Amino acid sequence: MSEKTIQIAQPVVEPDEIEAAVRVLRSGKLRYGEECRRFEQAFLAAEGGRAAVAVNSGTAALHASYAALVEPGDEVLVPAFTFVATASMVLAAGAKPVFCDVDPHTFLISLEEVRAKTGPVTRAVAPVHLFGNAVPIEPMLALARELGLAVVWDAAQAQGATSAGRRLGDVADAVCYSFYPTKNLTTGEGGMIVLSDPTLEKTVRQVMDHGREAKYRHARLGYNYRMTDVAAAIGLAQLPKVEERVARRRANADFYLAAFAGVEGVVLPRPADGAAPSFNQFTILLDLARLRIDRDGFVAELVRRGVGADVHYPVPLHRQPVFAHLEPPPLPVAEDLAQRVLSLPVHPWLTPAERECVAEAVREVARDHLV
Ligand SMILES: *Cc1c(COP(=O)(O)O)cnc(C)c1O
Repeated sequence: MSEKTIQIAQPVVEPDEIEAAVRVLRSGKLRYGEECRRFEQAFLAAEGGRAAVAVNSGTAALHASYAALVEPGDEVLVPAFTFVATASMVLAAGAKPVFCDVDPHTFLISLEEVRAKTGPVTRAVAPVHLFGNAVPIEPMLALARELGLAVVWDAAQAQGATSAGRRLGDVADAVCYSFYPTKNLTTGEGGMIVLSDPTLEKTVRQVMDHGREAKYRHARLGYNYRMTDVAAAIGLAQLPKVEERVARRRANADFYLAAFAGVEGVVLPRPADGAAPSFNQFTILLDLARLRIDRDGFVAELVRRGVGADVHYPVPLHRQPVFAHLEPPPLPVAEDLAQRVLSLPVHPWLTPAERECVAEAVREVARDHLV
């Protein structure tokens, strides 16, 4: 048992990244400029795609992508089990999010649901590579093509993951990343949109910059979603380290997968077909029928033992007040997951002793509460 809590996330900005930020601060060139453009090019080299647009959050990346692709009155299919922004930014773009249920083992949007929920005004689908588990790219793209849907990929948690050997930015339409402190790369706040189509890039660049097409000429409704050169300098210095940091996340995940194999009451997450997940989170399911404790009780027992477990996410999106007016149908898998999921520290700075401590705490709480 440790005295200090083992944190669920440990954002680290290393000395060379700090120096890069300071260099920009001293230059006086703070706004979106040369560093942002260099970060965009380096990001493309790492994640794939043909064009990248640096923005100031993952939420902004989603909003700008939706705004460029959908019209008011359109419907956009989103998983019911994800972070709120995947769906709330559909509303911000004037369209309607339609919730799809997810796979109970991979937690990812179900292709059957995408097919079933596509109607006459469905314009796009927004698959989320949740927790860094990669939605199979080819099957999703094939289905979207068949149904005539644009695809906005939410890769906020999946930088460094691959699907069937393919990098996640290497697909058509828009791929959205986040650089929030808990993500696989952080600039404090920040985001990136990776695109393949030059026309779409032009629209997205307008949306993120006041709808500007020329100086003081505003072609469309736009916002200020520009990244700063300070953030870009941090991202640029951190980018070459992502692969190794993701490898450490995978090693920690492999350790847990081995440590919990056969542990009663604990159900392990499953990579999607062909996925090499980036394990932004390591999220297990509790088998509540085998336990005399609910999920929140289980989390409290872990926290008492110094393990900073957390819940991603306790409420499925269709139960969030912000979406109540949509009168969503029942989504049984998303509802079940929301009551049973629990995330464990898997970040790259976890020591062998710490992850052993996490594993022991989970095994102990499960053992002590078996029915
Ligand atoms: C973090 C996250 C976002 C939002 O990104 P921000 O940079 O925090 O705005 C969107 N979708 C998912 C799945 C996320 O995890």
